[in-house]
Amino acid sequence: LGFSRRSDIGAKIRVSFEFFPPKTDEMEARLWDTVTRLEPLQPNFVSVTYGAGGSTRERTGRTIKRILNETSIPAAAHLTCVGASKEEVNAVIAEFASIGITRFVALRGDPASGVGEVYRPHPGGYHNGADLVAGLKAHGDFDISVAAYPEKHPESPDFATDIEMLKRKVDNGATRAITQFFFDNDLYERYVERARRAGIYIPIVPGIQPVHNFGQVARFASRAGAHVPAWLAERFEGLEDDPQTHALVASAVAAEQVLDLVDRGVSDFHFYTMNRSDLVVAICHMIGVRANPPVEKALAGSAAA
Ligand code: FAD
Repeated sequence: LGFSRRSDIGAKIRVSFEFFPPKTDEMEARLWDTVTRLEPLQPNFVSVTYGAGGSTRERTGRTIKRILNETSIPAAAHLTCVGASKEEVNAVIAEFASIGITRFVALRGDPASGVGEVYRPHPGGYHNGADLVAGLKAHGDFDISVAAYPEKHPESPDFATDIEMLKRKVDNGATRAITQFFFDNDLYERYVERARRAGIYIPIVPGIQPVHNFGQVARFASRAGAHVPAWLAERFEGLEDDPQTHALVASAVAAEQVLDLVDRGVSDFHFYTMNRSDLVVAICHMIGVRANPPVEKALAGSAAA
């Protein structure tokens, strides 16, 4: 039996969830519904993204503050340095620290003008993700995660350059890397091997993208330089107008990917939730990560009371 077929795997798996800051009251209600459904799964942490250039500064801070105040989940703020001076970024760090944020996901971000635009550091800013990690560390003893790219970052000329960048992030104080999503587990495994050979020993947590909408994920993937295998496209072929079957296939595909990674020795998983709980709850159930106390028991308990 593969490790993933053992009955106790859930006990060894740790999950984390990524959200984006909601723009409207309606989106906030949806996010909160998602947080409420995912909290009983006892995630290791959740994180909230940050719009490049500071466009979501206020909303990211507010969302994390609410998670910290109203749940027991540790929450990390993403932070980018593109298009901002060091003073501006430092002010955000101070502001986030003042509301109790001690965990960050440090990112460079992409130019606001979009795809194909060459990245130019702000003349008075942090130059890249590694530089931002150093800046954060200068402000406090934060828990810092960074991005890693199993298929290398689109701007990396080769894997050696890409791994070198990750090494700099670790040398500057990052203690966890979270990967860009990928669908071919061999690519992840090879990347981790490369990193280990380069002396990088921090956890490299796979970023798992449940496929809520195949067309949208395929577009994201091509922008992010992530390969969409033909077999994946075939699984979703013809399901554009059949959301129910699409969702069932999507949870099976993601659970299969995660269970294969479990068999390869991976125990931590970061889910890109798109602020939705449906697929993530199903996938977590499949990998043995259950609500604690289980939802049914909690309901039975409250009915008896
Ligand atoms: P870096 O690692 O700084 O740079 C990326 C690549 O550029 C390097 O691998 C290297 O090849 C090259 N490079 C950079 N500097 C140098 C140098 N000095 N010398 C040589 N090569 C260099 N974006 C957001 O806007 N908001 C978010 O909240 C957000 N969250 C993310 C979360 C995760 C887990 C991931 C994987 C990505 C996220 N992104 C987010 C996207 C991210 O901002 C982009 O992928 C961006 O293009 C790179 O950010 P980075 O921190 O990895 O960059």
